[in-house]
Amino acid sequence: MAIRDIVTLPAPILRRKARKVTDFGPEIQTLIDDMIETMRQAPGVGLAAPQVNEPLRVIVVEYSEEDDDENADPAAKKSARLYAMINPEITRFSQETATGTEGCLSVPGIVGEVTRPLAVTVKGLNRHGKPLTVKAQGWLARIFQHEIDHLDGIVFVDRAEKLWKVEEEAGQVIQDNV
Ligand code: ZN
Repeated sequence: MAIRDIVTLPAPILRRKARKVTDFGPEIQTLIDDMIETMRQAPGVGLAAPQVNEPLRVIVVEYSEEDDDENADPAAKKSARLYAMINPEITRFSQETATGTEGCLSVPGIVGEVTRPLAVTVKGLNRHGKPLTVKAQGWLARIFQHEIDHLDGIVFVDRAEKLWKVEEEAGQVIQDNV
């Protein structure tokens, strides 16, 4: 596994529609492993392949509800679930929406308020090409929407109602880095 460079705006690849994956061979396996390692090292809770300069429909997400709770037992964080999804599509959006503060590893130093559906159903394939369905709500739903946006060339700043700068000191914005 290797940590890959994360591309940042205004890199053109972040504005392009990514291609569907049809080959589940070693190259895609390496890409997924590298994306997981890169996401963890950043650290972030999600990453889309275009962010590591691969125009493919692949995302990784690792998040647990405990991440929201500063007082949570660190051991609880180990319960974070890891998702690697290929060709993900959102097949259901809730009518109910929520507004939250998002950041992005490809937009360093900027966060913004984004309103999105509170819950989504995501269908795609796992790393071996088998069907995978995830029903997500809350932050997990937000992360999936943010990552899938990347596959369509959409960055959270396009959807934000309000943007502001943050200091990039350790410990800040980590939670929202996707
Ligand atoms: Zn992002």
